[in-house]
Formats: sequence, C-alpha cells, structure tokens
Amino acid sequence: MSTLRQIAFYGKGGIGKSTTSQNTLAAMAHYFGKKILIVGCDPKADSTRLILHEKAQCTIMQLASEVGSVEDLELDDVCKPGAAEFNPDDTSVTEGYIMCTESGGPEPGVGCAGRGVITAINFLEEEGAYNEELDFVSYDVLGDVVCGGFAMPIREGKAQEIYIVMSGEMMAMYAANNISKGILKYANTGGVRLAGLICNARMTDREYDLAKNLAEQIGTQLIHFVPRSNHVQRAELRRMTVVEYAENSDQAQEYKELARKIIANDLKVIPKPLAMDDLERLLMEYGLEEEVEEDAIGKKATA
Ligand code: ADP
Ligand code: MG
Repeated sequence: MSTLRQIAFYGKGGIGKSTTSQNTLAAMAHYFGKKILIVGCDPKADSTRLILHEKAQCTIMQLASEVGSVEDLELDDVCKPGAAEFNPDDTSVTEGYIMCTESGGPEPGVGCAGRGVITAINFLEEEGAYNEELDFVSYDVLGDVVCGGFAMPIREGKAQEIYIVMSGEMMAMYAANNISKGILKYANTGGVRLAGLICNARMTDREYDLAKNLAEQIGTQLIHFVPRSNHVQRAELRRMTVVEYAENSDQAQEYKELARKIIANDLKVIPKPLAMDDLERLLMEYGLEEEVEEDAIGKKATA
C-alpha cells in the first residue's frame, strides 16, 4: 500500500493554478507512474478539462441538484478517468492514471461557493474515492483563503502539502503571503504544511530572485520556476496538457521537472508570513533596483 499524499494548489485567481497543476499531475502520472485523484474546488469546474479533453466536467453539486441530493449520487457519476494515456483501464501506456472530479458550486451570486467543496470532499470520502491504490489526491482551490469553504482542505487537515502558485507581480506576492497566513492558522490543528512556492513566470523585473527571496523569508523553497510559454495556450485550446500536446518541448520538460521535485519533496514547513511592511520593502528592493530609464518613460518618483 502506498501512503496517500494530499496536496493542494493555492494562489491568486488567474495565476495558473489549474494549468500548472494539471500539467504537473499529467507528468507525474505519465512519466512517474503515479496514481492520482484530482478534486477540482473551483465553481468554474476547470481543474480537469485538460486531463479529460472536455469542456467542463459535470460537477458534484450540479448532479446532486439534478437527482435531488448528494446521497443519491454514485461515485462513478462524478469521478471520471482521464483521457487516453491517463485512463486506468488502458494499462498499455503507463501504470499511472488520473481520476477527475469537480465539486462545483451554486449559480453565481447565489449562496456560498465554498459549500460545494465541503459537500464534495465529504461525499468522496464516504464513497471510498480516496482508495488505497492512490499515491496523490490533488486539490485545485480557488483564489485566496478567505472563505471557510475554500479554506476547508487546509482547515480540516485534508490537504497536508500546500503549493502556492505565484509570480513576481505584486498582487500574486500579496496572495502568496496571505495564503501562508491561512496555512499558519491551521498548521497546529489540521497539520497542514507549506511545501513550496511555484513561480509561474510573468516576466517581471528580476522575477526569479524575487520569488526565491520571498520563499526564503516565508521559510520555504522556490520549488520550481515555470517559464511563460505559448505552448500552454496552444495545448489549452486543444483541451490538452503540454505534456500530451508537445511532449518534446522545453515546456513539457519543465512540468516533468516540477513533477519529479514534488514527488521527491520532503520539505514541509509551518510558514512564517511577512508583515505587510516587510513585503512592501521586498517588492521595492527588487522592483526599483532594476535599471529602467525612468526619465524617458516619465516616472520621477523613485525611492
Ligand atoms: P487559475 O487556475 O490560477 O485561475 P489558470 O490555470 O486558469 O489560472 O491560468 C490562467 C491563464 O494563464 C490560462 O489561460 C493559461 O493558459 C495561462 N497560463 C498559465 N500558465 C502559463 C504559462 N506558464 N505560460 C503561458 N500561459 C500560462
Ligand atoms: Mg483555476
């Protein structure tokens, strides 16, 4: 029996959690034979589309409302095998596979979006989705940890290892620091740990150094720096991961490398979030040091 690792991807909206997680998990299954369950925790239900080659998977909340209640659902209704090489029934390709679920949520503007996450995880546990064969359960969680529903995987000790997707952009850095605060809050009761920052490059000034420095100050590691690449969009349009669409590309190798590092990772810490002033100072230090011809672009107000 393998020991099940429950990991989660947090980070600012639009930073690349769904993209990075699916590409990395695809690499974990494809190259390293890992058996994975994805629990999508975003009402958008886009945590599994690249793995399933589908527009959007039918969600647990959606199906529950159709049949009356979540008690009337079967696991097979909401838990789908990944396409082609990620399908557990097709053992010809690799022993690794990915099972896919999406929690879903209420209609936009109605009720609490995080409630779907709680309902979904409870249902999956009761129905035995977290079976002994699995190596990883991965939660793809929406945005910052503000609402109880989205904090649920952290709070209830479901996800033990948190990866924060961020970039050198100010708001992504703020979000990373805020999420660290959320992890710290539940670290003692739930046992959750921060396992690393993933910088999903936005090509800001001195981005690698900044991300690495933030990671060190929070007490964790920059586990990988994922470059920006248009292969990501090209693959996305075809509802595929880069690992499938452009297996020989440099970008696929980056996801493979991140997959390898996550599998080998044993650095799990209680984070030390920065005070706001220190975070601002860090951003200034890296952002303002860059040689920019500020006069030429009309900016006079330097530090
Ligand atoms: P999140 O799940 O954090 O809200 P997404 O994964 O949906 O963010 O990513 C937002 C957009 O950014 C996607 O359309 C995706 O194509 C793009 N993207 C993410 N990572 C990269 C990358 N490394 N290179 C280029 N585009 C990327
Ligand atoms: Mg997402």
